[in-house]
Amino acid sequence: MDSYLGRCQCGATAYEMKRPVAAWICHCRDCQRMTSSAFSFSMATSSTGFRFLKGEPRRFEKTGDNGSKSDQLFCPGCGTWMATRSAQAPDAVIVRVGTLDQHLWIAPGSQSWTASALPWALIPGLRSFERDATPEQALEVMAEWQKAHEGR
Ligand SMILES: [Zn+2]
Ligand SMILES: [Zn+2]
Repeated sequence: MDSYLGRCQCGATAYEMKRPVAAWICHCRDCQRMTSSAFSFSMATSSTGFRFLKGEPRRFEKTGDNGSKSDQLFCPGCGTWMATRSAQAPDAVIVRVGTLDQHLWIAPGSQSWTASALPWALIPGLRSFERDATPEQALEVMAEWQKAHEGR
């Protein structure tokens, strides 16, 4: 398999993943707090295509506004927010793009939760959703993202 490597800031936690299938920005309040910044930048891959090579991540169970639970995974040494697993989508792992070693080729395909975005942080011209994309919209955006990233 094509292998993509990533790690936390201190190097205690490292992972390997298959090529991502989508990437997006999220402006929700949870992501603003989790990143202590303006938004999160995430990518998805299959859960069978992701594994930690080094370190045992610390887990924080987050409950979303809609009641859905997810496991947020952090490096226990430096606190870098690495990945998310959710019971709603057990076949996928969501990984933070900033932790990937070779990340320059990845651009977001959409931005979610523009309703709570910092006004200056909205990306002009990017497909936008006021809250979460519907499953149908998410599939559409995923296909567009893969086409846009072919050969990169
Ligand atoms: Zn670390
Ligand atoms: Zn979010």
